[in-house]
Amino acid sequence: MILVVVEHGAGVPDRLSSEALAFGRGLAVATGEPLHAVGWGTGVAALGGELAAHGVAVVHAIEDPRLAEYAPEAIGKALGQLVGRDGPAAVVGPGSERGAEVMAHAAARTGLPLTANVTELRTGDPWQVTRQRWGGSLLEEARLDGPVRLVTVAPHALEPALAPAPSQVEVRPFAPELTDRDLRVRITSRVPAEAGKISLADARVVVGGGRGVGSAEGFAQLDELASLLGGAVGVSRVVTSAGWRPHAQQVGQTGTRIAPDLYIACGISGAIQHMVGARSAKAIMAINTDRDAPMVTRATYAVIGDLHTVLPAIISAVREAR
Ligand code: FAD
Repeated sequence: MILVVVEHGAGVPDRLSSEALAFGRGLAVATGEPLHAVGWGTGVAALGGELAAHGVAVVHAIEDPRLAEYAPEAIGKALGQLVGRDGPAAVVGPGSERGAEVMAHAAARTGLPLTANVTELRTGDPWQVTRQRWGGSLLEEARLDGPVRLVTVAPHALEPALAPAPSQVEVRPFAPELTDRDLRVRITSRVPAEAGKISLADARVVVGGGRGVGSAEGFAQLDELASLLGGAVGVSRVVTSAGWRPHAQQVGQTGTRIAPDLYIACGISGAIQHMVGARSAKAIMAINTDRDAPMVTRATYAVIGDLHTVLPAIISAVREAR
């Protein structure tokens, strides 16, 4: 069997899980194996109705309210137990951060190799994959060994197409053995986003700050410009590591991917891990003292100078224009 890991809200698979289902169905067709899915939490049985359109034959339903809030160790353990019992030819996980974490736990528990961010899988002897590395800036060809191939699908690498014809879905309850210790890591509370704040991922203008800003206090000018332009502040990892700003504002491979009309990057060198998160910006304006910084060479517009001099000038010009 080909087993697809499905993240869902009230029995409806999310976008990346739908992509994983399309990927898994292609694999099932190529190998002649039946397509199974696994879901957890509450309302899992409802997945049965939803997954008919994806050509799923069996849904393994881990109905457990303790897993309704994210609990990666416990879910990974449960997945490992299911894999150990049924021995699928492959397990396909969604390319979400949670999907990757759950699959990594399952891989560690079963001792199976995990191949992340796969864009293409060729069955044969041996199975071979193409996968994304370095946030998608590098494609790697790899061979898959091991009795069970664990893969996650690179996000948005394929369309979440439905099956040509719906299937008959059997919902099979699966009750993993979990202890309180497995639930050590879990979501215990949620903090709502500040009302009225524009989210970094959706902002039309992002004012970015890096090491060149120099201090937490130095961000006052970036906050002011972002607010004047109706945008959001984004930062480099150096800034979050220094504790100047929260991780929620980090742009890059291990932060948020932004797609603004304009990215004003102040005192940011433009390391590859940062650019991975900023490459969908339509235009970049770099403010940097170093004319050879990678951010400057990639920018649509560049101002070579000290950001603490350039930003007040821009702020006053914007105020005047208003
Ligand atoms: P620097 O590289 O030190 O650049 C500072 C820039 O500021 C320089 O260009 C300098 O000329 C300029 N400058 C200095 N003073 C001024 C001034 N007064 N006015 C104008 N310009 C000035 N980084 C991320 O950002 N996001 C990620 O998600 C991320 N993920 C990573 C994941 C991994 C696995 C690894 C290994 C690294 C990751 N990094 C990430 C870190 C990344 O490699 C860089 O170290 C980081 O982006 C550099 O941050 P920076 O540009 O602020 O600092």
